[in-house]
Amino acid sequence: MIRTRFAPSPNGPLHLGHAYAAMVAHDLARSRGGEFLLRIEDIDGERSRAEFVETFFRDLEWLGLAWDGETRFQSRRLADYAEAGERLKAMGLLYPCRCTRAEIAAAAAAAAMGPDGPVYPGTCRHREVNPEGAAWRLDVARALELTGPLEWTDERAGPQRAAPGIFGDVVLLRKDLPASYHLAATLDDATDGITLVTRGMDLFPASHVHRLLQALLGLPVPVWHHHPLLVEPDGRKLAKRRGAPSLGDRRKAGEDGQAIVEALREGRFPAGISLSEGLHQAS
Ligand code: GLU
Repeated sequence: MIRTRFAPSPNGPLHLGHAYAAMVAHDLARSRGGEFLLRIEDIDGERSRAEFVETFFRDLEWLGLAWDGETRFQSRRLADYAEAGERLKAMGLLYPCRCTRAEIAAAAAAAAMGPDGPVYPGTCRHREVNPEGAAWRLDVARALELTGPLEWTDERAGPQRAAPGIFGDVVLLRKDLPASYHLAATLDDATDGITLVTRGMDLFPASHVHRLLQALLGLPVPVWHHHPLLVEPDGRKLAKRRGAPSLGDRRKAGEDGQAIVEALREGRFPAGISLSEGLHQAS
């Protein structure tokens, strides 16, 4: 049976782009007789705020997008993430790194840019680093030697050869947390039995890393569906900080949530907003 999820981070209120993402996950599950889950990605330290979670529930109800079963919370799964981190350490695939952002930017100045900014140039890969309070990075080249070439499939883009190296050696365990987005999302999708991972095209590159983690940790491999993003006239992703009204603002102004979802379904967007496959600029 197909199972999808909507996985918002409670770092701010939801806006129309989130409504679109939730609608895609909901409709793909419902149209194929499957299940649609809600997962709250609330491990982002001080940026995660409980009050946003409450409004997420109200927003989704107002949109008419009902989810199945219990809501999942990443903050309750830290022990699972830590355990997977220990397994990867025991496999000799993680190394500690204490580099600051500024150090990485300086060292990477001559190197390529990746999907998330300057690619980490592997500074600490062969260094003696005190692991106390350090972040832990995945030695991607060594990991790929172990797994061999990997493939994954996006329903819209077709078969892909996994290229996790585009990010450099990603952080899997942060300094302040026994996880990172890549590790937590990959483990959760397996734990929750997600068979179709739906999310925006901006996260397409992340799936290369997630496919590698699935191979290393012996996790089932889902199919992906990266959908286009709602963008502003300048091609940038909708964002509250650029003035996109939140769903809560619209709800309080008396707008009809279900009518909004119906319009998004039919490709009718508010003036100035359109769909774009990728991002022209980083937000
Ligand atoms: N929490 C992520 C976000 O809000 C979504 C992650 C995912 O769907 O994998 O952008």
